[in-house]
Amino acid sequence: MACQPPPSGEAGSWKTPYLYWQLQKAELVGPLTMPVQGIQPGQIQDTWGAARSEGRKHQGIDIFARRGTAVLSTTQGIVRRVGTNSLGGKVIWITGPNLSQHYYAHLEDYAAHIQEGDWVEAGEVIAYVGNTGNAKNTPPHLHYGIYFSKQGATNPYPYLLPSS
Ligand SMILES: [Zn+2]
Repeated sequence: MACQPPPSGEAGSWKTPYLYWQLQKAELVGPLTMPVQGIQPGQIQDTWGAARSEGRKHQGIDIFARRGTAVLSTTQGIVRRVGTNSLGGKVIWITGPNLSQHYYAHLEDYAAHIQEGDWVEAGEVIAYVGNTGNAKNTPPHLHYGIYFSKQGATNPYPYLLPSS
């Protein structure tokens, strides 16, 4: 039986266990690719832990940019979810090195080709900056979060600095 490789840009279900195994062995090492195109590390602020409504703490960082600016994957990985939730609006989850979970929220829209199960490279355009979800009354920005299965939410800021 012929085994057809998947079209480029798609992980293809037969490849997924191998790709997960590769990601599991890898470490998440900074500096990661800046998740908003054209933004330099010196332009971002560490808003990790800032107070949010209903006693929540901010579990990520916000990167402000013009609406429609390209959102880039910070790592290589597998697109786990493309969807919506009430706080994040349009969101994407990507599983990266060491099975870290990368959360991109308040998206204006998704890149046309992005689907669950896709393999993405660091720097690949996955979406566009917006203010969907509970950011609808704030200027457009990307909310970016990193989660590990053991320690949970982790401050992404140090991972984006050149010295990390
Ligand atoms: Zn945020």
